[in-house]
Formats: sequence, C-alpha cells, structure tokens
Amino acid sequence: MFHTNRYEHSRGFIEYRTELLTGIKSRICPERLKRGIGRPDIPDYPDEGCPFCPDLVLEATPAFPDGRRVQIGECITFPNLFPFSSYHIVSVISRDHVVRRFSARQIRDALSAQVQVLSEVPGYVSINWNYLPSAGASLPHPHLQGLADPVPDTLPQKYLDGSKQYYSQYGISWWGVLKNKETETSRRLKGTNLFWYAHFVPIGEKEIRCILPCTTVSDFKGHIPDFAEDLIRILDFFQDMGNNAWNMSVFFGTETDRAFFSAFATIIVRINPNSLCTSDTAFMEKLHFEPVILTLPEDLGKLWCNNR
Ligand SMILES: [Zn+2]
Repeated sequence: MFHTNRYEHSRGFIEYRTELLTGIKSRICPERLKRGIGRPDIPDYPDEGCPFCPDLVLEATPAFPDGRRVQIGECITFPNLFPFSSYHIVSVISRDHVVRRFSARQIRDALSAQVQVLSEVPGYVSINWNYLPSAGASLPHPHLQGLADPVPDTLPQKYLDGSKQYYSQYGISWWGVLKNKETETSRRLKGTNLFWYAHFVPIGEKEIRCILPCTTVSDFKGHIPDFAEDLIRILDFFQDMGNNAWNMSVFFGTETDRAFFSAFATIIVRINPNSLCTSDTAFMEKLHFEPVILTLPEDLGKLWCNNR
C-alpha cells in the first residue's frame, strides 16, 4: 500500500514515502526537529470587536434564509459571510473568545450543528477547523467551517477515485484493507472509541487520521459522541507535546460512494503563533506539493501509547 526509501546522511536520515492509492508523496526528516522553532504560546487575543463573541454574533453574522441560526449548547451556526464554497457555514464553538482546552461537549455540539445543517445539502461535504491564526484562522475565536460542493476537492477526489478503482480491481474496500494493516502497527492509537492512527505518508506535521465507520455526513450523526471524546484526547495529546495550533478536516462521500469509500478525518498540527510570523509552510508544500514532515508516524504512535 505504501513505498518507503531511506536516504542516510552524516547527521541522520530522510525517509521518502509514497502512498500507492493516490500517488501522494511526503518526506520525513526528524533531524529538522532540532531547529527548535515554534515555542508553545497562545497569545491573549483581545476580544474587542470580535464578531463571534456573544454580544456581537447575532448582529455581525448572517442568518439562514428562514431568518434563523442553529443554536446547540454554546454553539451558534450560520452561513459564512465570505464563502469560498457553493455552500459554506460557520459554527462558533464557544462563548469564550479564547479557549485553551476544549470539552467533549463543546466539540459534540459544534459537530452536531454542522451535521444537522450539512445533511440537508447535496454534494460533497467536509467539516473543517483552523485553530489559531498560525493555522490559518482569520479570527482567533474558535469555529468550525462546513463546506459542500457538487464535486469533491482535490484531496478527497484522489481518495474517491483511487478507492473506486481499487474496489473495481479487487472487489474489496481499500479502507478495510488499510484498517486491517494498521491495526497491529505502532502507528495505531490504541484505546480510542473509533479507529485512529498516524498515517504512513503524512500530509502535515504529526498527522493523525480516523477511518470513520460510515460514508455520508448523515451517517456520521450517530458517531459524533465517540468522535468528540476521541478528538479531545488527541487535542490534549498535541497540547501536552507543546503543539497548540491545528487544522482538521472530515471528508464525506455520497450515497453512490458507499460500496468503496469511508469517510475519514485528518488532523495536523501547525506552528504555534509567533511574533515573527514564521511559517511552517514553504516552497516544498506550496510549490512542490510535497510536505516536509518532522515526526515519524511510528514515533507518534509510540508516544501516544507511552503517554496514555
Ligand atoms: Zn470572540
């Protein structure tokens, strides 16, 4: 399912890895961790004028066509004022402007709101999270974004096409084969409700994926409590390692993809906010489309097992 090639050099090694299904490549260079960039730090972002804070949110954000917003617990959900998708919603997760540790309830309510709205929309759906400005959040106030489009985006398209072809060739689901293969490896995160593991060919730093036991966004509804509980443990794990910023996407298929596609979640950590605006994304990621990763997925799995 994967290829790997190790290049040894005087101070360590580089692993070149390829995922055969999609052709996605990345390279892992643990020596670069020693540069020591990205110290743990969440600044105190001022809440003045924040459109997601409780005193402004109903004034500053649009409502759905029926004039309402969806409210579940602390979470409030509405259309994105500046969409980049044919259907684009925002769920403000918390009343607090800055949250350092999330509760499973906050995550559950926000995901439930996203699923409630996105289940009614046709097309290819994803639920996404940029946490903190260094991860691309334009507002520091925690929020999820739900997207739907008639065609899948580039990454899920690769997995949809690849797994459809795999299914027609072998008559079984690539996702089932992957799950079986990963079960006994050091990349597996043991003790979780759902199936989580560090992906062999990471597309971002400390990437952890969940293979969901379902395909469509409507199917996901019943798995939200388990997913939220696991996600909190994983975010705590990241924060315990000093990683305070992350991106998450959960990709869903449609009814026609059910035989060969599993919905899946991916989470990567991003550089912590820093005063120089140092980025963790450079020409390799933006122009070569080939991520440079610092942490071996096998080491991440071992750290999880040692710390839990
Ligand atoms: Zn706010």
